[in-house]
Amino acid sequence: MYAFTLERPATVADAAKLAAAGGKVLAGGQTLLASMKLRLSAPEQLVDLGGIKELAGIKKDGNAFVIGAMTRHLDVGANAEIKAGFPALAWLADHIGDRQVRAMGTIGGSVANNDPAACYPSAVLASGATIVTDKREIAADDFFLGLFTTALEEGELITAIRFPIPKRAAYEKLRQKASNFPLVGVFVTQGDSGVRVAVTGAGNGVFRHKGLEDALAKSFTPEAAAGVKIDASDLNSDLHASAAYRANLINVLTQRAVKKALG
Ligand SMILES: Cc1cc2nc3c(=O)[nH]c(=O)nc-3n(C[C@H](O)[C@H](O)[C@H](O)COP(=O)(O)OP(=O)(O)OC[C@H]3O[C@@H](n4cnc5c(N)ncnc54)[C@H](O)[C@@H]3O)c2cc1C
Repeated sequence: MYAFTLERPATVADAAKLAAAGGKVLAGGQTLLASMKLRLSAPEQLVDLGGIKELAGIKKDGNAFVIGAMTRHLDVGANAEIKAGFPALAWLADHIGDRQVRAMGTIGGSVANNDPAACYPSAVLASGATIVTDKREIAADDFFLGLFTTALEEGELITAIRFPIPKRAAYEKLRQKASNFPLVGVFVTQGDSGVRVAVTGAGNGVFRHKGLEDALAKSFTPEAAAGVKIDASDLNSDLHASAAYRANLINVLTQRAVKKALG
């Protein structure tokens, strides 16, 4: 490591001031501290959000769950209301990384980081959720801009994510054995705004799949998903899997997710 200062503000307003002045926001540290150790990131000041009470917690607001940015994965996975009302989201949170990662990692950190293989962005996008920041509200469709890139401006803080509760939903992933990150993950929802299918781990960032959404809007069945051809040309090929393998996984995982959502 190298020298840096650490601030621990107690309010969002104070954190926003520090972030606007160039401080780097620290949430669970599961990504940021590792990148600092590797010298991929070298902030002069860290702004730890861990002391801001208003940023953590889960509440039901009409037909939506509002989850504070500093809510840990373990707390989402264990929340009784989410388990009852939106079990797919609880399941996703409960299958991130290992217990240590889930005890520290936060929903705000995961969504702000927008790792192309992260689990939460697929839930946010498939739910048509809203990202609430200290400045504005951003629809999920406008938020994820590709590899580790989002619509957040410099110094802008996520304060919460608002998830409309779908009628049906499920998440399926083929996990990388060492980390639990998805090689590919698919989150499917059926709700008031129709069917939404979000894919993670397969491309430059999370994306919706129109072919699957159209087929499932006509018939919400695994068979309808099975009939959709997935174009591999824009998908990643790396040492873990070829683009063709990932394309096949998108199809298979969508079928499994639909079956799971139907119960
Ligand atoms: C071994 C291991 C296994 C993992 N497995 C999985 C997995 O299976 N699935 C999965 O999805 N993830 C996985 N993760 C990622 C992990 O769950 C965290 O979600 C992720 O590291 C980021 O969350 P964090 O709270 O630790 O953020 P940090 O590392 O503290 O921050 C990440 C980035 O987001 C910014 N940031 C943080 N909070 C905010 C905010 N409120 N507003 C604006 N910017 C903010 C920070 O400045 C930084 O740039 C794994 C991580 C590890 C180390």
